[in-house]
Amino acid sequence: MPKHQHLGLLILALAIPVIALLPLPDFWITQLNMIGMYSMTVLGLVLLTGVGGLTSFGQAAFVGIGAYTTAWLTLNLGMSPWITLFIGLALTAGSALIVGLITLRMSGHYLPLATIAWGLSLYYLMGNLDALGKYDGLLGIQSLSVAGFDIGQGRAFFVLTWFILLAFAAALLHLLDSRAGRAIRSLKSGSQMAEAMGISTFRYKVTIFVLAALFASVAGWLLAHFQRTVNPSAFGLKMGIEYLFMAVIGGVGHVWGAIVGAGLIRVLEDQLQVLLPKLMGTSGSYEVIVFGVALVVMLKYLPDGLWSMVGKHIPAKPRKVDWQHAAALPERAKPANGELVLDVQKARMQFGGLVAVNDISFQIHAGQIVGLIGPNGAGKSTTFNLITGVLPATSGEVRFQGRNVIGTPSRDIAQLGMARTFQHVKMIPDMTVLENVALGAHTRGRKGVLPAMLRTNRAEERQLFREAQRQLERIGMGEYLHEQAGNLAMGPQRLMEIARALCADPTLLLLDEPAAGLRHKEKQALADVLRQLKGEGMSILLVEHDMDLVMQICDHLVVMEFGTLLTQGPPEQVQQDPKVRAAYLGTEH
Ligand code: ADP
Ligand code: MG
Repeated sequence: MPKHQHLGLLILALAIPVIALLPLPDFWITQLNMIGMYSMTVLGLVLLTGVGGLTSFGQAAFVGIGAYTTAWLTLNLGMSPWITLFIGLALTAGSALIVGLITLRMSGHYLPLATIAWGLSLYYLMGNLDALGKYDGLLGIQSLSVAGFDIGQGRAFFVLTWFILLAFAAALLHLLDSRAGRAIRSLKSGSQMAEAMGISTFRYKVTIFVLAALFASVAGWLLAHFQRTVNPSAFGLKMGIEYLFMAVIGGVGHVWGAIVGAGLIRVLEDQLQVLLPKLMGTSGSYEVIVFGVALVVMLKYLPDGLWSMVGKHIPAKPRKVDWQHAAALPERAKPANGELVLDVQKARMQFGGLVAVNDISFQIHAGQIVGLIGPNGAGKSTTFNLITGVLPATSGEVRFQGRNVIGTPSRDIAQLGMARTFQHVKMIPDMTVLENVALGAHTRGRKGVLPAMLRTNRAEERQLFREAQRQLERIGMGEYLHEQAGNLAMGPQRLMEIARALCADPTLLLLDEPAAGLRHKEKQALADVLRQLKGEGMSILLVEHDMDLVMQICDHLVVMEFGTLLTQGPPEQVQQDPKVRAAYLGTEH
C-alpha cells in the first residue's frame, strides 16, 4: 500500500482521541457521530460502486437489516447488543448473498433498477410488519454499554464509531492492495480481461456486494443504539440515493472520499434544512433539489469527486520493494518439446449469417511459434476468442493438451495454462505496471478477501510481486515497475500485457498483434523475447501484421482470408504462395 495511505490512517487514529478531548459543543459531536455511521455505509459503496463499478441504490436497506435485527432482538428477547451485532451481520450476509446471486448477473441499467426494487421492497416490509412496529418503528432501544459504563452517546460513542470506521477503512485499503483487490479493481474494465486471467468476475461481484452490505449493517447496528429508535424512513430508497450521492460527491473510488462525502452532505443537509425554509418562506424538502443540482454540476465538472482535488496533490510514492527474497511461485509441468499442445479441428464461428471462422484446422506443438496471418476482418481475433473460450464455437473442436475446451469458460481455460493478450490493450489504467502484471499471476495465488483485510497475505503478495517483476524484466520493462499503466505509450502497454500473460506460467501463449504500435527497436526486442521464450519450450500463437517479424520468428504460418483457411506451412513456402500474395496485394502493404 502506498505510504500516504498509512499516513492517512495514522492521522485519523490520532485525530479521534484529540477530537474527543476538545471542548466541542455537543451538537458537533452528534454530527460527527452521524458522519461516522454514514461514512461506514458509504465506504461499502466506495468498494461496490466506485471500485467495482456496480451501482446500488439499495445500500440503505442493509443498514436497516442491521438496525432492525438488533432493535427487535434486544427489545423482545433481551439479548445483549454485542451478540445481536453478529446475528445482524449473519442476516445481512445471507440476504445480500441471495439478492447478489439473483441480481449481479444483470448488466447495464438492470442492476441499479433491481437494487431500487430491493430497497423499496424491504422498506415496505419494514413498514408493514406488526412485529417491527410498522411505520412508527421500534422505540426504547437500549444504549450501548460496556461493564455498566454507557458508551452509547456523546464522546464515548464518537470514539467507538470512528475507531470502527478506521478499522474498516484500513481493511478496505489493505483489501484493494492485494490479489483479491486487484481482481476487484479489474471488474470495472469489463469482464473479458479479468476472466482471461482466470478470475471469476461473478464471484468477486457477489463478494463485494456482501462486504458492502456488512459495512452498512454495522452502521445500522450503531444507529439503532445511538438513536434508540428505528423506523423505516432511515432505510428507504431516499436514503439509498443519499448514500450513493455521498459516495459520488466524495469521490466514488476513494476510501477517504467516503468520509469527505458523508461529512459534507450531513453538514450541508443540516444547514439547508434551516436555511432553505427561511429563503423559500415555507418548509419542504428543498434540500433534495439543491442536492440534485449539485450532483449534476459535480458530475460535469468534477467527476472524480471532491477527494480527487486533495488526492492529486499527494505525491504517489513508489511501492517499497520488499520481495527480492520471496520464494518463487511453483511452476506447472510443461509438455516436452514437439508434443502436441493445441489441436484445432474444423473450428467454426458463425455470427448470424456471417461465418467469421469457417472450419479452420491447425496445430501447435510445444516450442513452436505459429503465426496466424491474414487481412483485416479475416477472422484472426475471432479464432483467438474461440481458442481462449471467450466465444463458444458453433462447431468443431479445440483440444488443448488433449482436452476439448469448447464450452469451457475462459477463466477455466486460463487455469489450464493458456494465456493471452488483446488486440486492443486491456488493463487497469490507475494501477501501476507492476500491479497490472501481478494480476496475471492471479491463478497462482490463493489468498482471498479476508486474509487481505487482515494482512495475513504478505508472504504470498511478495511472491506475486516477485514474479511480476521477473516477467517485466524478462521483457525489458524493468524500469517501468511503478509507472501508472495508463500513462504508458502504446508499445510499453503491449509489452506489459505480454508480461502479464507470462505471469500465468502458461503452456501456450496467444498474442494478438503484439507489435502494433511498436517502434523498430521495440519490435526487435520483442522478436528476441519471443525467440527466448520459444527456446524455453513455450508454444506461441501469434497474430501479426508485420510480415518481417512474422517471417523472422515463426516456424509455421496459418493464413486466413474471409474466415477460411487460405493455406498453411513453413514461412518460406507460404511467402511464395501466389494465393497469399494475391490476398495481401489486394488489401494491404
Ligand atoms: P481479424 O482479427 O482477422 O481482423 P476478426 O476476427 O476481428 O478479424 O473479425 C472477423 C469477422 O467477424 C469480421 O467481419 C467481423 O466484423 C466479424 N465479427 C467479429 N466479432 C464479431 C461479433 N462479436 N459479432 C458479429 N460479428 C463479428
Ligand atoms: Mg483482429
